[in-house]
Amino acid sequence: MCHIVRPGSSGGSSGVKRAIISDIHSNLESLETVLDDIATQNVDEIYCLGDIVGYGPNPRECIDRAMRCRVCLLGNHDQGAMFDPEGFNSGAERAIFWTRAQLENSGNGADQHRRWDFLGELPRNHQDGDMLFVHGSARNPLNEYVFPEDIYNHRKLKKIFSLIRRYAFQGHTHVPGVFTESFNFLSPDEFDYEYRLGGEKVMINVGSVGQPRDGDPRSCYCILEDGLVRFRRVEYAVDRTIEKIYAVPDLDNFLGDRLRDGR
Ligand code: ZN
Repeated sequence: MCHIVRPGSSGGSSGVKRAIISDIHSNLESLETVLDDIATQNVDEIYCLGDIVGYGPNPRECIDRAMRCRVCLLGNHDQGAMFDPEGFNSGAERAIFWTRAQLENSGNGADQHRRWDFLGELPRNHQDGDMLFVHGSARNPLNEYVFPEDIYNHRKLKKIFSLIRRYAFQGHTHVPGVFTESFNFLSPDEFDYEYRLGGEKVMINVGSVGQPRDGDPRSCYCILEDGLVRFRRVEYAVDRTIEKIYAVPDLDNFLGDRLRDGR
């Protein structure tokens, strides 16, 4: 596990400046642009909440870069690439099989093993003091979606909040924002992209690096420092990613088109 939770762990959040990224989905242009942006932010460490692969054209390159994260979690697409994918629509499933072939059939044997071992050892959650990190939700770390409209499903939110000590950071829906225990959802533009953690329990969706779905095509990720969560949006060369997707028959053109609209 040494390449997942690196030595020198801060153990607790005080004084640590951390970038939290999620849902890269094999989009190398977005990931490199986000990593460049993170480099300007003087962070101590990067956490990745899963779905490194799936949908996009550069699974190998994205895995290689995700290996540098101090903590990296397993996402449902990462799991789908390793095992039999379940519950995916046909376009997503085809992309997963193509992804698996990329990981199996190219590069030298050592590279293949290194990437498989990395994916195979990814944990499903990570707890750091009162902060929980998951891909989906505290109840079902891999597969459960918590959408903005779930604020009307009090039963669901109450159950999930009961499993959270104070703060949960998650991804999976590709829709950034903050869920409060009082059944509100706040999108980042409602609090000017800066959210101060307080006494109330919250779930924070950090958004998606490689396939935003909130109508804003720019990559999204968060910086966490001293209880302040800053949401950052960065523009990347989306047309280049779309061209690459178009060039791969097993990747549905729709997977490219949606990047332009952020849907
Ligand atoms: Zn995802």
